[in-house]
Amino acid sequence: MSDYNWCHNPDCHKIETQSRVRGTGDNKVLRTRKIALNCEYIRDSIFSYFCNNSCLHQFLNKFGEEIANTYSVKQPSETPIKVKTEKYESYRYRWSGNEHTREPYQATRKIIENSS
Ligand SMILES: [Zn+2]
Repeated sequence: MSDYNWCHNPDCHKIETQSRVRGTGDNKVLRTRKIALNCEYIRDSIFSYFCNNSCLHQFLNKFGEEIANTYSVKQPSETPIKVKTEKYESYRYRWSGNEHTREPYQATRKIIENSS
């Protein structure tokens, strides 16, 4: 396993930053950024393939349709859950003509219970 990746944005080398300048004398170039895989945070994230958010989004804008076609979603997925309905006391504000008054009422909310 190599300890680095090259940024996967095909246009990374066209972005004008000092960090991409390589070469000597009159033979300077802008080069694709090298990504060091020297920490777990980088290795376990999408940023092991892209040098920053800008390159990630340029890649997605360019190849998003191909990615969506490769990993197409033709129907929604579902996760079984248990839902508990809970009553709680909430407040609403009513305008009486010259002031707002705070009135309590019984409200309900749905709570998704842990499935694990
Ligand atoms: Zn890049």
